[in-house]
Amino acid sequence: MKTASRRDFLKVAGLGLASLAAPRVFAAGARKPNVIVILADDLGFADVGFNGCKDIATPNIDALAKNGVRCTSGYVSHPFCSPTRAGLMTGRYQQRFGHENNPTWLPEDTKVGLPLSETFLAKQLGAAGYATGAIGKWHLGAAPCFHPNERGFAEYFGFRGGGHMYLPDEKNPLPQEKTWQVEYRIPLNRNKESVTHTGYMTDILSDEAVAFIGRHKAGPFFLYLAYNAVHTPLQAPEKYLARFPNISDEKRRTYAAMNSAMDDGIGRVTEALRKHGLEQDTLIFFLSDNGGPITVVPCSNTPLRGGKGQVLEGGIRVPFVACWPGTLPAGAVYNEPVIALDLLPTALALAGAQPPEKPLDGVNLVPHLTGANKAAPHERLFWRTGGGSGWAVREGRYKLLKSTGEQQSHLYDLAADIGEEHDLAAEKPDVVKRLTAAFEAWNAQLVPPIFESPRPGPKKQQQQQQQKKKAKAK
Ligand code: CA
Repeated sequence: MKTASRRDFLKVAGLGLASLAAPRVFAAGARKPNVIVILADDLGFADVGFNGCKDIATPNIDALAKNGVRCTSGYVSHPFCSPTRAGLMTGRYQQRFGHENNPTWLPEDTKVGLPLSETFLAKQLGAAGYATGAIGKWHLGAAPCFHPNERGFAEYFGFRGGGHMYLPDEKNPLPQEKTWQVEYRIPLNRNKESVTHTGYMTDILSDEAVAFIGRHKAGPFFLYLAYNAVHTPLQAPEKYLARFPNISDEKRRTYAAMNSAMDDGIGRVTEALRKHGLEQDTLIFFLSDNGGPITVVPCSNTPLRGGKGQVLEGGIRVPFVACWPGTLPAGAVYNEPVIALDLLPTALALAGAQPPEKPLDGVNLVPHLTGANKAAPHERLFWRTGGGSGWAVREGRYKLLKSTGEQQSHLYDLAADIGEEHDLAAEKPDVVKRLTAAFEAWNAQLVPPIFESPRPGPKKQQQQQQQKKKAKAK
């Protein structure tokens, strides 16, 4: 087999020789770099040290920023869980294929999940010789056809719903009417085998990540580590709670403990890379799947406005870091907008993998983050929720958005007004017109949602059924 020269490798990777931040030697027949995507769930923008958090220490997450590039305008393609993951996995805006809501937990339903007509980019990485592993939350369909092993991941460990209990069930009895009754209690899967969990979920997922790295240290590998931390239910063992005696709000204290457990786990992942001498061979992305749900959990998106579920910055702009010592600059800040859609296309470029037939929306970020390419990765970024009830478009410093329930769109200059307080729509009708037209052109390429989010929840459904029965009885 012909091995690629370093120059060929860099060309494939979109890196010019002059673009390397520091002298970096790829051996002849250069090994392809490993890629790890670490996805937090519902983590507040300001709940990591590198974004100003004071009461929760996140030294290991901060170390990624210290040794890598912090993307200040790092976005996800949706303000909530499953659609963001659908975009991340395919490198395409998920509204192109109707994945605009959270799938209800319906193991018999082969329509409620990421459509089988779409390609998971892990599949392309596998074909390019990568060991592929997904660990943790899946949330891309419950039916067997949507199982990670069917979508391009050779190895899987985790739970396939939208969340899970963190501790073995008997220690955490929950009221029976809660919506997570079934979905959050399903057995974990090791590939397709059911397994029972006996420890703290966040620790278990970290253990699995460390083991995966050890198994595949000869590389190359792609690891998707999707913690359910810090999503509800708020649960943490004393080991982590004890770190926060000074947080008096019990919910905030538990949230802090959950975040701290995840930070420990990320520290163990980077330690495993160090132990195996893989630090300079591994690109790590860290981000959250959406903004903090500020109305539900005492988390913080400061200075952003809004939170999970909204197209305001608080819903879609997230803590976002890329770390690749020796190739990306250390301690750098990158301000051009980037999006989770870019992560897998970046991995494909590094792997020299074949892109799928359908065009990607994400781009290879490496040349942008090294500074080799001075242009912004995207001319514009777009968001749409609820089939169009809410939407946004960002172009350079400007963002035009229409929130769900509103008739009017608003224009903000994010360079001067990150908190989206001063609506410039009346002052700058030309910009409004241009961005509205851009959104409409993009929107015309999309399809309606193919399934609805699980609303009303089981509790509400039960109430509705009871009301119907009562009405009938009368
Ligand atoms: Ca989420």
